[in-house]
Amino acid sequence: MRVLDRGRLKTNRTHSAVIEISGAGPAGLSAALAVVKAGARARVYERKSDVGHRFHGDFQGLENWTTETDVLQELHQLGVKTDFEVTPFSEVVCFGPGGGERRVRSTEPLFYLLRRGPDSGTLDQCLKQQALVAGVEIRFNESVARLPQGGVVTAGPHRADAVAVGYLFGTDRADAAYAAISDQLAPGGYAYLLISGGRATLATCLFRDFHRERVYLQRCVEFFSDRVGIRLDAPRRFGGSGNFGLPKALSKGGILYAGEAAGIQDPLFGFGIRSALLSGAAAGRALAERSPGAYTAFYRRRLRGYHKSAACNRWFYGRLGDAGYRKLLMRYPAEADIRKRMRRAYAPRRWKQLWYDLYLSRHYPSVLELHAGCDCTWCRCQRQSNRE
Ligand SMILES: Cc1cc2nc3c(=O)[nH]c(=O)nc-3n(C[C@H](O)[C@H](O)[C@H](O)COP(=O)(O)OP(=O)(O)OC[C@H]3O[C@@H](n4cnc5c(N)ncnc54)[C@H](O)[C@@H]3O)c2cc1C
Repeated sequence: MRVLDRGRLKTNRTHSAVIEISGAGPAGLSAALAVVKAGARARVYERKSDVGHRFHGDFQGLENWTTETDVLQELHQLGVKTDFEVTPFSEVVCFGPGGGERRVRSTEPLFYLLRRGPDSGTLDQCLKQQALVAGVEIRFNESVARLPQGGVVTAGPHRADAVAVGYLFGTDRADAAYAAISDQLAPGGYAYLLISGGRATLATCLFRDFHRERVYLQRCVEFFSDRVGIRLDAPRRFGGSGNFGLPKALSKGGILYAGEAAGIQDPLFGFGIRSALLSGAAAGRALAERSPGAYTAFYRRRLRGYHKSAACNRWFYGRLGDAGYRKLLMRYPAEADIRKRMRRAYAPRRWKQLWYDLYLSRHYPSVLELHAGCDCTWCRCQRQSNRE
């Protein structure tokens, strides 16, 4: 269809049909917002009765270290309003194996703390409200296995490569962020305690030995109680898993895959929200503008280098062990700006791209064996994704 626009003839390439999206997580809702922004209509299918049911009100960090540009500014440019509860954090107290302590700081926020889940004020609820106001149709309680007319699949992780288990509780402690790296607390991963506005999230994020999650979680409770002096009043337990596999095809037969459904995740530490929002928006915009190739081009230009770099970092980090973590932490200069250091660590580098292409892409760890009858978070998540 040709339309007259500001005195010039232009081809209107916007999609006239409804663009369908499966999954109302950050990737799906940002895809829907981008579709509407591009002048098309969006319909999102969500298998649960509301958004955010994968989460439990736990704090998560929206990373602000991979680029010089502030992440909130980047989201504004995408048309995503940051009207969810966010608290900027520029300081983290890090504990190494054996309890050595380093306070790391940045001049600009290192990350923004937000909450996830179906409650009000969470990222998930605020994105839902924005989408509804923009005219997006969301169909809850509809699980979609196929999108025969094409669309965007943003259905979250399809395998569990790492798990996080923890507790949510109230506290009268001041806002603060603590991290601990030790294989005694979180093999291959890290433990964290995040406090904001009288709420706290304490968790261990495991990349190995998932079946002993209870042991590690109990150790983390003892560790943070001892080092930080917190008391867990009426704690609520939570857990979840993440997909750290490498992205494969981002598009297949008229379908674009975005967010964790595409394996777009931070393989080093699991900070996947930003890339879910970015990839979802790019996929939605590409379909709305009838230019699906623009999505793959966007991934290559904006996300692929970071993903490969983080995957290489994961490979090395997973081999450090307690002696390596101790060196890493204690050699860290106290006056350094951690945001700049992190940006450097995640920056796409030629040798990392080569390492990824020649070695990692062929030798990336595959999923582990399921334990019959086991009720750990990893086995439950893995069984669930095998059923879907
Ligand atoms: C415990 C935990 C802590 C985390 N902490 C952080 C953190 O601090 N910082 C960070 O950046 N990231 C963190 N992450 C990762 C981050 O939450 C994810 O990367 C992000 O939510 C991915 O968004 P998504 O939209 O791709 O998928 P999801 O958020 O999983 O959304 C997918 C949606 O699709 C729905 N769905 C699934 N199948 C279907 C279907 N067949 N039909 C219809 N709907 C379907 C699901 O119900 C869900 O609502 C954490 C993850 C976990 C588990």
